[in-house]
Amino acid sequence: MAIYAMTGGATGIGGELRQQLTGAGHQVISVDIKEGDVIADLSTAEGRKAAVDGVRERAPDGLDGLIACAGLPPVARPLSLIAQVNYFAVVAVVEGLKDLVAQRRGTVLIVSSNSAPMIPADDAYVQACLSGDEAAACALVEERDGHVAYAGSKRAVATWMRRNTVPYAKAGVRLNAVAPGITQTPLTDQVFADEQLGQTMRDFQASVPWGGMASPAHIANVMRFMLSEEASFICGAMFFVDGGSDAMLRPDHF
Ligand code: NAD
Repeated sequence: MAIYAMTGGATGIGGELRQQLTGAGHQVISVDIKEGDVIADLSTAEGRKAAVDGVRERAPDGLDGLIACAGLPPVARPLSLIAQVNYFAVVAVVEGLKDLVAQRRGTVLIVSSNSAPMIPADDAYVQACLSGDEAAACALVEERDGHVAYAGSKRAVATWMRRNTVPYAKAGVRLNAVAPGITQTPLTDQVFADEQLGQTMRDFQASVPWGGMASPAHIANVMRFMLSEEASFICGAMFFVDGGSDAMLRPDHF
């Protein structure tokens, strides 16, 4: 039996993964703003500290895996909340629990998005995230729109994963990210319901090469594999699970 900690385990992709892992007999410490073992608002410094302390208290002998899944959609407001939850909370929780994962030569899996490559790497907001300047990133993002706020946060978190793959591996932690495409969850429902982004989302869904929309299980199945011993040589991967959308948009990049 393995012991995992995860953020965003209440609903959607995280809820499905939590159920799959506990159904397989593993222990899961779930951190979420809605419901879970540790209730914490990851948009705040206090919430991130409560998350790290709460997991440490429940897993004194280390973690086999840590999954950073909590995230807000492009329709969340203020836009700075998206940067805070989707980027800064991920880095704070992963860094805060790294030693517990290293204790068991475990793995960290970050949930990015197939929207990440839609924002250029040199975008000022992405760069502010990567420099660790939360105040600057939050100020910059307020001048942008929901798509940039969301996809930029996912670009930043995927880049952070790649930049930290080597030091994490040397410390005994396998670091990876999953990049889901459009998936039927409460987050997606909010975007579909939005006056501005709803139609863009419907058009994007219609363009998915494999057709349709992922279920949370499509994504969680791959995440469960990436966390498992069978995947123990996967390190530094940005694993697209998106019905072929990224290959359609960027055929020459991989
Ligand atoms: P969801 O809304 O069902 O899940 C998000 C979870 O994060 C919820 O449990 C929510 O309570 C939690 N959360 C939100 N704000 C929080 C906060 N401040 N503090 C603590 N917890 C908070 O949506 P989902 O689609 O399952 O999203 C899971 C992850 O997948 C997110 O990171 C999202 O960006 C990513 N993703 C989703 C899609 C999609 O199409 N649904 C596509 C790509 C990536």
